[in-house]
Amino acid sequence: MKVRSVKEGDTEVLVPIPEEGANFAPSAAPVFFNPVMEMNRDISIAATSAFLNRMEPDPEKTITYVDALSASGIRGLRVANEIGIHTTLNDWSEDACELIKQNIEKLGIDDHTIASHKNANVLLHEKHFNIVDLDPFGTPAPFLAAASRSVINLLEVTATDTAPLCGAHLNSGIRKYAALPFNNEYHSEMGVRILLGKIARELSLYDKAMFPLLSHATRHYVRTYLHIRKGAKQADKMLKKLGFIAQCECGNRETKYGLAAHIGDTCSLCGKKTIIAGPLWLGDLHEPQFCNETIEELELRSCGTKEMSVKMLEFCRDELNIPMFYDQHLICKKLGVSASAINILITELKNNGFRASRTHFSGTSFKTDAKLQDIERIIVDIR
Ligand code: SAH
Repeated sequence: MKVRSVKEGDTEVLVPIPEEGANFAPSAAPVFFNPVMEMNRDISIAATSAFLNRMEPDPEKTITYVDALSASGIRGLRVANEIGIHTTLNDWSEDACELIKQNIEKLGIDDHTIASHKNANVLLHEKHFNIVDLDPFGTPAPFLAAASRSVINLLEVTATDTAPLCGAHLNSGIRKYAALPFNNEYHSEMGVRILLGKIARELSLYDKAMFPLLSHATRHYVRTYLHIRKGAKQADKMLKKLGFIAQCECGNRETKYGLAAHIGDTCSLCGKKTIIAGPLWLGDLHEPQFCNETIEELELRSCGTKEMSVKMLEFCRDELNIPMFYDQHLICKKLGVSASAINILITELKNNGFRASRTHFSGTSFKTDAKLQDIERIIVDIR
């Protein structure tokens, strides 16, 4: 396998070069490497570090981190090298594991870094880790049960199967997440909430609860950071944040909490039949203070995507924790009026006594606690 050296953050890592003439897709190389995921990794380093700052220091206890699906190891190697906690890098591919070992040696981090050559699900069932990172190629669904069992403090999950999550590949999404999404203007937020709903149900098997610290949909992936606590009562409370959303073609939507929710099938605004998505996570996606702590870590560190990452995290920090966002253009199209600058609309919503914010999901969209009829009235009044 031909390799080249790349530097991300403060870490220099050997990654594969795809064979000459071969498909350049990252998945075509003997060991997977996708340079486009640098921002995901930069934020991971900052978020993991921010989380560790919150943990009470105990010199007697070693904090353990596992990158369960490592490929070249770039993610976990950065954790080991830039944060310095005890790191396990796992991949079942022989080529990947060889490359990981080479990288560990090159970085001189073998005193706190281990290469593991196992099925990720076996490793996660064998051992508990303080921090479990699942960064697969595609869906994390087959690893969620084992990760939920293994994790003690922090669960970090990437999903790149946005088409199933967002309802574009409907049946695949239903199979992977046992939930029904819909593919409309807020499909990106739908994807995040379907994934979080699935993770919540997996964690509850082990009497564990999740508290989302940060979740984002960027390009073609979803990434979430979940603080984990053990306890049946906490898990019961968490499950109460699952529910459904009823959507009408008029644009009106209603959320219903509970796994056996009574959901009327007609729109309370226009009386037409609604469609239902769920079960999904209706709780918070972020903790604003954690977003700030992650921004502080990003500012302190050297990383290639700093500016972009900080900007995105500021959007996450400032967006209302209300499901789901509205797209201004879609509402304007229905009303036959032109859209105004998104900040003007947000100011007007606030002037009318509602809560309102922009959202990291989309530049033309906003979140608010105003009902559709109020939003429409305000949009028309801006003219
Ligand atoms: N996290 C990596 C990308 C991982 S790609 C990064 O940041 O670049 C997915 C990897 O998971 C592949 O290397 C594949 O070999 C590995 N993999 C897939 N299924 C696995 C399993 N059940 N156990 C262990 N490794 C697995």
